[in-house]
Amino acid sequence: MLLEKEKKPFAAVFTSTLLDWYEKNGRSLPWRGIADPYPIWLSEVILQQTRIQQGWSYWERFMHRWPTVEQLAAASEDEVLRLWQGLGYYSRARHMHQAARQIVTLGGFPSDYAAIRSLKGVGDYTAAAIASFAFGEPVAVVDGNVYRVLSRVFGIDVPINGTEGKKTFTALANQLIAMDKPASFNQAMMDFGAVQCTSKSPHCESCPMLEMCEAYHTGRVEALPVKLRKTTVKTRYFSYVLVRCAGWIAVRRRPSGDIWQGLWEPFLIETPSKADVENVIRQFEVVGRLTLLKENVRHVLTHRIILADFYLLEALSRPSLPDDYVWVDELSYDEYAKPRLIELLMETLNG
Ligand code: SF4
Repeated sequence: MLLEKEKKPFAAVFTSTLLDWYEKNGRSLPWRGIADPYPIWLSEVILQQTRIQQGWSYWERFMHRWPTVEQLAAASEDEVLRLWQGLGYYSRARHMHQAARQIVTLGGFPSDYAAIRSLKGVGDYTAAAIASFAFGEPVAVVDGNVYRVLSRVFGIDVPINGTEGKKTFTALANQLIAMDKPASFNQAMMDFGAVQCTSKSPHCESCPMLEMCEAYHTGRVEALPVKLRKTTVKTRYFSYVLVRCAGWIAVRRRPSGDIWQGLWEPFLIETPSKADVENVIRQFEVVGRLTLLKENVRHVLTHRIILADFYLLEALSRPSLPDDYVWVDELSYDEYAKPRLIELLMETLNG
């Protein structure tokens, strides 16, 4: 839904009201008001699935460890994953690291939307953020905040998580953007959604958009934006067995094509329902003692729930394990990048 001609003045009022609000209420963040694309990019990647409060300290740690994109590119993937640990969605870190190497090969950070968008792992949103914040290109960012604000103020009920919704809201945001202040406009949209027009209990009574807000006047604030029903959540059953022998433990790097690619985990038995671990271990003909540490640990990911059991197997001699497992010193395992679920296992073990 593009703006109709007669609505143009409405658009101008929306944009100027938003910019006025931003001047008084905009959030002060360390990666704002700077022209260096690297810290901006880093903040956008970190904040994609993470709240600002948590992401901020990670951003500082990354900037401290690798102050330039060249230094990030020179790091190993393991180092990057290790520093990322706790943020989840590890493909973000891997892609960012690969993109850093692409940037170095290109001879510097690309400076327009299309070229930035072609970097590994960089989607429409991040490319628009970098292009507008660092290079002043008038291209609108469209994230959850933007969907919410536009759907409410303009009363649009096209589902935001469908193809048509994405097109509709992107086109509208690009019509509204202040051509002379694209960075401020984009930041204002994000802040307005995060601070004023929040998803739960928006602050309508103090809102400068109140007069023009379609959702408010039609009693649809809670009903907008509209979302299509979520895809079904799949349950996976993981039994982790920490196989330990004389201070060494068996671990493997998770393969590609599944969650947690590249992270390190102990011996895993995945089964369609809860596993009979004792029976599985018997097949390895291990001499040792098997102890259940914790069971039915529920770990929720996007579109998946993992139900996990944790075991310790104290072996008297090293059993032969599948080829992708290696023995590592148990003390050094702390330095390996691992999923949050495995951190829980280690905490249970040492707890
Ligand atoms: S009036 Fe309420 S729903 Fe409308 S833009 Fe303002 S905060 Fe959001």
